[in-house]
Amino acid sequence: MLKVDLHCHSNVSDGVMTPQAVAAYARQAGVDVWALTDHDEVGGIAAARVAAEEQGMRFITGVEISITWARETVHIVGLNIDEHHPELTAGLARTRAGRDHRAREISRQLELAGIDGAYEGALKFVGNPDLMSRTHFARYLVEIGACANIPEVFRKYLSEGRPGYVPHSWGTLADTVGWIRAAGGVAVIAHPGRYRFSQLAQGQLFDEFKQLGGAAIEVVTGSHTPDQYPEYAQLANYYGFLASRGSDFHAPGESRVDFAALPPLPGNVTPVWHDWF
Ligand code: AMP
Ligand code: MN
Ligand code: MN
Ligand code: MN
Repeated sequence: MLKVDLHCHSNVSDGVMTPQAVAAYARQAGVDVWALTDHDEVGGIAAARVAAEEQGMRFITGVEISITWARETVHIVGLNIDEHHPELTAGLARTRAGRDHRAREISRQLELAGIDGAYEGALKFVGNPDLMSRTHFARYLVEIGACANIPEVFRKYLSEGRPGYVPHSWGTLADTVGWIRAAGGVAVIAHPGRYRFSQLAQGQLFDEFKQLGGAAIEVVTGSHTPDQYPEYAQLANYYGFLASRGSDFHAPGESRVDFAALPPLPGNVTPVWHDWF
């Protein structure tokens, strides 16, 4: 059986390794089919494609786009996209545009909470100045000893209601699915089990996504707990979605699940890659 991993990050967004290094790391963990899905950015794809081919992996183009739906941030993965499609690249540029301002605001808030120099500190961890992420702040707060680990930083500082949280409005679901489809890609709801929606709201998200031409949801992901795999497998079947699988790898030891440890999709779903090869 082929090992397929369709969700991970390089230092082009909030991962720590170059696209080449992530490719090698994935291959070492036994991945046969691989997608790099950096946040809001396709700048790593060219290097990732070359590296994947050198490693003997089949490469799938990808991106993970931040949207706002019902006042929550939701992530939509686009797979098999034409990464040069102008509608997609323009949409991604607009999505990234607010990040630097938000980062400065996060830093200001953290300063009020007694943590100085967070913007500059986070910047040291940034591989792509267009893509300042909360993860970079989290790494800085761990570095200075303000927290013991990254989940603790999110709990104490970077989540809604916490002193370093800055509300942000990303693009819409409709626009984002539209860019992915214009670029020939398949739209996938990333880690649906991670959002804090009621069952009713989650159903509305799935219905709306389906109506817009969304095709799949992630079922097995490093961002789900193992008891969520069968739950979302069942929901994928109920709503008529294909199922995707990916580690959501960011860094060795930092991600909840590394490439090698993630189980396969349950047998009762149709994989998003069922007609790709
Ligand atoms: P941003 O796109 O800048 O808002 O950052 C979102 C990123 O932060 C996600 O892609 C994750 O990598 C990371 N993240 C969000 N929540 C948590 C959490 N509770 N623990 C660890 N990492 C998180
Ligand atoms: Mn991330
Ligand atoms: Mn995500
Ligand atoms: Mn991700």
